[in-house]
Amino acid sequence: MKIINATKYAIALIALLTLTIPTQAAGKINVITATQDLASLGAEIGGDHITIESIAKGYQDPHFVEPKPSFLLKLQRADLLAVVGLQLEIGWLPPLVTQSGNQKIQVGANGYLDMSQFCQILEIPTGQVTRAEGDVHPLGNPHYWLNPANGRRIAKAFQNKFSEMRPADAAYFAQRFSDFDKRLTEAEKRWDAAMAPYRGRKVVTYHRSWPNFCERFGLNVTDYVEPKPGIPPSPSHTLEVINTMKRENIKLILVEPDFDLRTPNSIAQATGGTVLVLLPSVGGVKEVNDYFQLFDYDINLLTTAFAKFK
Ligand SMILES: [Zn+2]
Repeated sequence: MKIINATKYAIALIALLTLTIPTQAAGKINVITATQDLASLGAEIGGDHITIESIAKGYQDPHFVEPKPSFLLKLQRADLLAVVGLQLEIGWLPPLVTQSGNQKIQVGANGYLDMSQFCQILEIPTGQVTRAEGDVHPLGNPHYWLNPANGRRIAKAFQNKFSEMRPADAAYFAQRFSDFDKRLTEAEKRWDAAMAPYRGRKVVTYHRSWPNFCERFGLNVTDYVEPKPGIPPSPSHTLEVINTMKRENIKLILVEPDFDLRTPNSIAQATGGTVLVLLPSVGGVKEVNDYFQLFDYDINLLTTAFAKFK
């Protein structure tokens, strides 16, 4: 009797599984990304041939994301995991990937896509690579998606990977890339025109999130509120920043949304400057839902602030 029940149960389970599996067999690639920026770019290329979801939210510091059990469930179901790399996610993602037991997305597997390998990376250290002093950028700057040229490279990498995974859909992904590329080129003209009057302006930033953005749009980052990436501000360093800003007549302090505003505000007060909470990621605020809106939002904030300081 027991055996029959077990058999019945097994048959019911198999029936249930075959009912749920066809949605996957329909061919959508289940993509999980580390950040919302990658999810936005992946969605541009994958369209309705993929499902895509980010683990970290754009308003979180991508270096320090608190792992949750729900992350594990996402990773267990993924066909493809796209990461920023350069150790951006080292504090939270690798243990989850291992624990997921999903062989498709382990480091080195076909479903593990490290986007840093396709992009232009700035601030690559020339000396010994170390996190010993707490520097969270030991392999170069991981905030590289903030140059549209790198956004385009990431999109291209998604196109190539999706086509490799679904060769029958290659033309669809190629068409989506071509359309994205065209819209990005048009947007870049708009962003360049908006930023043109302010090329050469100097700014201070909290974290080193902006070298790619500032190089692309002609801004000079003169100093940082953090003495080193990931190291909290110290009184002596804060004083140096204040002196630099006074000496060079710098008025803008760009701060990522997840940082405490007390030190930036005190620097602004001492220098007659302004603190601007600029977004390094899609999802930083609820109205910024994609890669284009991210640059629109930041460039609008910057140009409005620059216009105030002649
Ligand atoms: Zn960083």
